[in-house]
Amino acid sequence: MTTYADRPWRALYREGQPVEVEPEFPHLLAMWADAVRRAPDQDAIRYFDATLSVAELDAASDALAAALQERGFTTGDRLAIYSQNDPAFVIAMLATWKAGGVAVSVNPMYKERELAHVLADSGARALVCLDEVHPVAVAALAAGSGVDVVITFSGRDFQTRDDERVLDPVGVPPADGAENLLGLLARYAGQRPGPVAPPGPDSEAFLVYTSGTTGDPKGARLTHANFVVNARNYREWMQLGPDDAILATAPLFHITGLVGHGVLSLLLPAPLVLGHRFHPGVMVDAIREHRPVFTVGAITAFSALAAVPGVGPDDFASLTKIYSGGAPVAPAVADRLETVLGGYVHNAYGLTETSSITHIVPPGRRAPVDPVSGALSIGVPIASVRSRIVDDAGADVAVGELGELLIAGPQVAHGYWNRPDVSAEAFPGGELRTGDVCFMDDEGWFYLVDRKKDMIIASGYKVWPREVEDVLCSHEAVHEAAVVGVPDDYRGETVTAFVSLVEGASLAETELIDFCRDRMAAYKYPRSITVVAALPKTASGKILRRELRA
Ligand code: AMP
Repeated sequence: MTTYADRPWRALYREGQPVEVEPEFPHLLAMWADAVRRAPDQDAIRYFDATLSVAELDAASDALAAALQERGFTTGDRLAIYSQNDPAFVIAMLATWKAGGVAVSVNPMYKERELAHVLADSGARALVCLDEVHPVAVAALAAGSGVDVVITFSGRDFQTRDDERVLDPVGVPPADGAENLLGLLARYAGQRPGPVAPPGPDSEAFLVYTSGTTGDPKGARLTHANFVVNARNYREWMQLGPDDAILATAPLFHITGLVGHGVLSLLLPAPLVLGHRFHPGVMVDAIREHRPVFTVGAITAFSALAAVPGVGPDDFASLTKIYSGGAPVAPAVADRLETVLGGYVHNAYGLTETSSITHIVPPGRRAPVDPVSGALSIGVPIASVRSRIVDDAGADVAVGELGELLIAGPQVAHGYWNRPDVSAEAFPGGELRTGDVCFMDDEGWFYLVDRKKDMIIASGYKVWPREVEDVLCSHEAVHEAAVVGVPDDYRGETVTAFVSLVEGASLAETELIDFCRDRMAAYKYPRSITVVAALPKTASGKILRRELRA
């Protein structure tokens, strides 16, 4: 049986890796205070040619927290961050905690419909938003929300121009009731937030929206203790220290970047090398200049780095600890990347609901490949993870047998925000049902070979057929829609749709693609749509996705 107590994977751990971890600090503010005390002059963020030290980041987040409090933001309030990777993201998340609040991450690719849902569902009081997406925010807010503080910034605000840090408010001019971040930082410089009750280990630090196993976007309630434990696991498993700069290949709004880059860099504290959005050429320049040691991201990001003309192992020589997470890794791609990057890409597995990594290929080990499915192992459980594999009746399966992976441990979210119904189903007894079909071999390696959920993974981003189908069906000419993932060499999978039309209607497929593109993030809209007379269904009326996929 694959019970935790047997720990067959223990033999695969490297000497010095912990089996159990406790939260080292009671909450993230204590963790950050310790970093500020130890290394105030350390670079906290390197962003193009600008740097922000630990002390500067601390002061900026103090100023923003004071400004938020003066605007009525108080304990338990939610602040949504709608941004690409930017120093402002890190300032806003620290400021939220310092003002006693809970941060909410929003994918900057989200369109008005998607953003409006997150703002309404989370009951956000404040919004910190990149200028590029501010017009979308204005439209989403017009639909009505509880947001009464809007703060904008520009992706160039923290870059150095003419060899001088831009500290005067030259960013976005206040519009539509918004305030400017740099203006606030200048005005509140030197101020500290008023006292707030310290967060308990079970207080939420972040709501990260995910579709879980059901397809309907919900905020995973990730606690201070979840993040402290997982950041500590990264540090100890990858044996990282303050000199090990971290390259942000993943977006901070996704759990991988949020914990594996953002929170981890605050714990060490180590320089976080940020690019605005993932541009492979810019990232390679940043690697050459800042010599990062560690990164974790989607395999497609590493393929994109390796495809930059003229790059070779010398460019990546500093990056000795490379981890890929969030999407399947084809063994052939891992081998090809190793030739170009010069380092082995370790597979890692986790979910939003587990605040990032739960299974990992230990450093110094190479993942075995399952000869039947061809899947590269996702590794072994990281410290404190209790994982088991069960059959449909919930009983543990034998070694080598397939079943659903269940995960418990201090990394696991405390359910979904305001959704006791789905939380009870997804986290029975506090144990997460992942919806991933896995098996464990007799050495203790885990393999993910299928999904119980209909989810599609395109470039590491999750797409839920039902959400796309709902948008398709909101078009007046569409009668029914079914969305499936099809294999794609670069993205892993792409989204494809089949629709039937209402009687007498006619519609160009490109028109329907445009309709979707206007209403959803770029990675979600179908790249191809086929109009069919009728969708294939079971006798009970369920759409036969497998048949469509074939
Ligand atoms: P998210 O909540 O966006 O992080 O998505 C979590 C899901 O991504 C998991 O339930 C898996 O289906 C998938 N996933 C994460 N890591 C891996 C991996 N290393 N290999 C294959 N699929 C993965």
